[in-house]
Amino acid sequence: MAYAATRGRLRPIAGIIDSFGIPVRTVSRDCEILGEAYGKTIVRENGKITILISDRLPIEEQRLTLAHEFAHLLLGHLLPRECYRVPGKQAEFEAETLGFILYNFLYGTNGGRKNSI
Ligand SMILES: [Zn+2]
Repeated sequence: MAYAATRGRLRPIAGIIDSFGIPVRTVSRDCEILGEAYGKTIVRENGKITILISDRLPIEEQRLTLAHEFAHLLLGHLLPRECYRVPGKQAEFEAETLGFILYNFLYGTNGGRKNSI
């Protein structure tokens, strides 16, 4: 598995997530952890969180996927099941909606300029 630290091109969303102490890493699309997903949030038993994003996506898709994964965290979807439980389809709808709002707020409706920071 190839990890890479995110570069400035994913900012400001990566910077916001980083300010919460959550690292964002790009990984190769064939990374087993991602499976069929474009991004994934990993919560370890010790509570440490890492967000993984496929490096094969266009930059706009990486940003949108990152906003989606961050939305899952903000909405409490990754809390232990005994603390909070939302059906899978509802959680995806909520994360997609909030992620899209975040993305548009940060980058504008056209997704911002390519490779801008
Ligand atoms: Zn999701």
